[in-house]
Amino acid sequence: MNKFTDSLESELKALETKGNLRQLPHIRHEGREVVVNGQRMLNLSSNDYLGLASDRKLINDFLRTLRNEEVLFSSSSSRLLTGNFSIYEELEEQLASLYGAESALVFGSGYHTNSGILPAIANTRTLILADKLVHASLIDGIRLSAARCIRYRHNDTMQLRRLVDEHHKSYDYIIIVTESIFSMDGDEADLTALIELKHAYSNLILYLDEAHAFGVRGPHGLGCAEEQNCISEIDFLVGTLGKAAASSGAFVICRHEIRDFLINRARTYIYTTALPPINIQWTSFILSQLKNYESKRNHLSYISQKLRKILIESGYSCPSTSQIIPIVVGSSTDAILRAEEMQRKGFYVLPVRPPTVPEGTSRIRLSLTADVTEKEIDQLINAIRE
Ligand SMILES: *Cc1c(COP(=O)(O)O)cnc(C)c1O
Repeated sequence: MNKFTDSLESELKALETKGNLRQLPHIRHEGREVVVNGQRMLNLSSNDYLGLASDRKLINDFLRTLRNEEVLFSSSSSRLLTGNFSIYEELEEQLASLYGAESALVFGSGYHTNSGILPAIANTRTLILADKLVHASLIDGIRLSAARCIRYRHNDTMQLRRLVDEHHKSYDYIIIVTESIFSMDGDEADLTALIELKHAYSNLILYLDEAHAFGVRGPHGLGCAEEQNCISEIDFLVGTLGKAAASSGAFVICRHEIRDFLINRARTYIYTTALPPINIQWTSFILSQLKNYESKRNHLSYISQKLRKILIESGYSCPSTSQIIPIVVGSSTDAILRAEEMQRKGFYVLPVRPPTVPEGTSRIRLSLTADVTEKEIDQLINAIRE
């Protein structure tokens, strides 16, 4: 046993030497701020894009809607056994109706959704074409599936088109897997190009992960597909509820046959305890308000644009078109130093390092939320420029 733990320890040492060792931070949350090592900082590393998760009034409004006998903290079972409370199906109907779609299915998390759907729907006669930068949960779904997978260069629709053209006759289906807003670069997939491609072939399926766009984009906050008026073209539209929706869980919007199929075949749906009823009620409460948050979305878009513009003017290359704004510095140790410097100035930003991003592209990642003020953005800009 000593030999085993020794080998783990030497691997950790190697990570530490490269500046890639991860440790859990000790954080105290105080609304929009965090306190770490006694220092209070504005939280610029949160996915609470609409600033709802720390909104005490909203939480209290929700709690007042509950009758005591409705408050349940566990579903105590998978939904296929006894965990299928009626509020689950109500939430799915609410989601389907928001999207004007046939159906929706709720999963325990975005990780469960992506790592469960792909192995369920892909077999050896399927080819998966996935963007080089897709999230780990999608990569794990691909790994668990029997399908062959080719990763195309990030957002390179020319290469994607060539791959489709080359392979479409050799497979029953080709599934194109992408995010709408990418988690690390904050840039966006070209949905128009993907849909054009889909129309040109009879066996293409589009799988779109809107984790960072749900709540944030579109007139009703439904994501980039809503913004670009193409919801019905997406075969699997995944949204997560732990980010802008200030809850937890995730969903897929799809045809009803697909929903029925996933209930039978998606292992991460079948073999896990359903989310707690109280969480489903909270999600439903938030979703019923989502359309009212347009001014939050507009503000977030405004401050994001302002920050991106200044970064570009200051000579940084900034691929982002969203609220996720990376400052790429290169080495992991530089990214750590830069993050520490920003933290000393009162901004809680974190370094992102390999394997989350490719070697040599370590960065600090700013993730803006709607409750950051324009004044704070100006202060942040000064701190970056100093
Ligand atoms: C956060 C994220 C997920 C995972 O969602 P969880 O609900 O946190 O498990 C999946 N895909 C993308 C693109 C994400 O950013």
